[in-house]
Amino acid sequence: MTDIEIADQATLEPINKIAESIGLDDDQIEQYGKYKAKISLPVAEKPGKKHKLVLVTSINPTPAGEGKSTILVGLGDALNQLNHQTIIAMREPSMGPVFGIKGGATGGGYSQVIPMEDINLHFTGDLHALTSANNTLAALIDNYVMRGNELDLDPRRIIWKRVEDVNDRALRNVITGLGGIMQGVPRQTGFDITAASELMAILCLSTDLMDLKKRISRIVVGYTYDREPVTVGQLGFEDAITILLKDAIKPNLVQTLDHTPAIVHGGPFANIAHGCNSILATQTALKLADYTVTEAGFGADLGAEKFLDIKRPILGKNPDAIVIVATVRALEYNGGASLDEIKEEQLPALEKGIANLNRHIKNMQRYGLPVVVAINHFINDTDAEVKFIEDNCKRLGVNVVVADSWAKGGKGTQDLAKEVVRLADQKSDFKPLYDASDSIEEKVNTIAKTIYGAKEVSFSKKAKKQLKQFAKLGWNDLPVCIAKTQYSFTDDQTQLGAPTDFIFHIREFVPKLGAGFIVALSGNMMTMPGLSKTPAAVNMSIDAQGRIKGLF
Ligand code: ADP
Repeated sequence: MTDIEIADQATLEPINKIAESIGLDDDQIEQYGKYKAKISLPVAEKPGKKHKLVLVTSINPTPAGEGKSTILVGLGDALNQLNHQTIIAMREPSMGPVFGIKGGATGGGYSQVIPMEDINLHFTGDLHALTSANNTLAALIDNYVMRGNELDLDPRRIIWKRVEDVNDRALRNVITGLGGIMQGVPRQTGFDITAASELMAILCLSTDLMDLKKRISRIVVGYTYDREPVTVGQLGFEDAITILLKDAIKPNLVQTLDHTPAIVHGGPFANIAHGCNSILATQTALKLADYTVTEAGFGADLGAEKFLDIKRPILGKNPDAIVIVATVRALEYNGGASLDEIKEEQLPALEKGIANLNRHIKNMQRYGLPVVVAINHFINDTDAEVKFIEDNCKRLGVNVVVADSWAKGGKGTQDLAKEVVRLADQKSDFKPLYDASDSIEEKVNTIAKTIYGAKEVSFSKKAKKQLKQFAKLGWNDLPVCIAKTQYSFTDDQTQLGAPTDFIFHIREFVPKLGAGFIVALSGNMMTMPGLSKTPAAVNMSIDAQGRIKGLF
């Protein structure tokens, strides 16, 4: 059965019942239909809870996505089945990948959050609100430039782009304001995908509505003719933009197929953004549950690094355990086998590709946190392949558990749940990767050399110039958010496994003062994805009853 067929057969609990199960009464939620709600803020901490945080991450994915969300959901269900009260806190999907190649982000098989069609499409409108807020700001900036431009904002140096939640390569570079004097000041700009926008990052890192406003006012929209930064606060637009996000900031509550409460909120991509669900969602779950299981996007080189170095300091809580999801097929793909070949046993490729898992294990252990490897079991996996991974992990002193979340839901994930509970009770000694006082250049070097395994970092001429400018502007204390392909430790998506001795290229920096980090664009990473030759959209259908097929 397909993911959507399984989801369609589910019996959902009314959302107020799910809310009640975590101590939220009808006054504390705002219902969006029967099965979705927003949680009213602030949420009070429930006394006597354990407040344990589990971070689910993974090895480098293959183009299909390797089941991080599936394991996350299965783990949440399994913990609850074993009477460890648990809430899942995960990201909300972007329509770009849903209609593109990767598909949705609600888990799979018998480990899904539902209603999956709603969550994968318009959900509670958060991404639309972000898109509208972002583009309202863009329109206000263009209007400001046309009508007097008292601050002398240089139209050639405006860095605020428009966004939409679609993979739309045709809009990567555009010229706006064409058509004559009354149509604005022509300038070259472009569109990003909403999931990569600074407002998405801001929404995810804000601790309340006033923090959201403060962050919005700090956004640098561009520079004057004298190269001085201009902020939203200087233009006076922060209240208008915050108003547009007043509901989007509230975390969304849904459920899993097994009725585990799931807070699904905020969806920055991990390759071109910081890849973590919202602080408010994670905090809400932590306040209400013994165990919060959350995820960070793509591989641990991107999502987990950004969780630990960007989100964690604001959250004020270290993960108590880290789960690294690995699959036989992704490791074989990393070892050089093709997408067709990985459907069958490929031990030589697995032997080569295991280096990818081992580097992720080493990286997570470097932070001083307890780690377990979860093998997401696929039907074609052979005993020999699984045993090879188990033996490898034993040699590294890391426990490894086979999880069958996809086929068996929480029941197939209970061994992993038991190991996570054991690890979360262990003492850990968190060691940050870098100091806030390190320069931007040092931070990029540390991430690239320690986490990616690079020999050196090469900064383009433009990037070097920006480093000097940022130091002068006092932005050196900010963390760095590296935009990098998810498929490789390097900036070249064809370099799989665990390459060493490579040069990591930074072509440009983008300051995101509202989010509170500096984006470093590596290789040829784009902030607006394109569609593939056969996007998922072409295999979708809907009938007269509104039943959808082809959503996964
Ligand atoms: P990720 O979070 O890593 O992107 P997902 O959990 O969204 O991955 O899973 C991607 C796709 O793979 C989903 O359609 C899901 O149904 C499928 N999938 C995940 N795990 C398995 C499995 N063990 N067997 C078969 N399909 C799986």
